[in-house]
Amino acid sequence: MTLVEEIIELFESQGKSAYFGEAVSQEEHALQAAFFAAEEQAPNTLIAAALLHDIGHLQHAEGEDAADRGIDMRHERAGEAYLNRAFGAAVAEPVALHVNAKRYLCFAEPEYLSELSPASRQSLRLQGGPMSADEAAEFERNPYWTEAVRLRRWDDQAKIPGLRVPGIEEYHEVLERALLDTLEE
Ligand code: FE
Repeated sequence: MTLVEEIIELFESQGKSAYFGEAVSQEEHALQAAFFAAEEQAPNTLIAAALLHDIGHLQHAEGEDAADRGIDMRHERAGEAYLNRAFGAAVAEPVALHVNAKRYLCFAEPEYLSELSPASRQSLRLQGGPMSADEAAEFERNPYWTEAVRLRRWDDQAKIPGLRVPGIEEYHEVLERALLDTLEE
């Protein structure tokens, strides 16, 4: 089985689980995030990152009430480790940074926090709360910080029950191309 087939199978076998505290499944959430990325004509690697940003959750089905139990699963790190096996920094780094991008936006845009969903606001506390000015300046030194912020906004939007978007099988080529782009990094 190729890596792309493995990823698609992971979505098919684990994707129906709920996206923590939201009215969409993990698979719907991922497909919506990728759809928004494609709509903005993001590069392949960033569309792939949007599709795969919560892959750490699919690998470890902790249950949807994990945030309620006060567990910070560090899913962005699990996802980064998985993606680093084959994809380059252009895919793995925005994924690794997408939780910190939320903390960053809470600092940089005062209205951002009030627009977060209740579940996302709750998990923010476990993730360390809004960044300080020093942390935000440090974050902006990461070469992929703007990609991480874009990914974060698609992530925040991708919670719309019943939105019709292309299925996982439509992403074979995007993923294959993102793997090839990685070789050129
Ligand atoms: Fe997400």
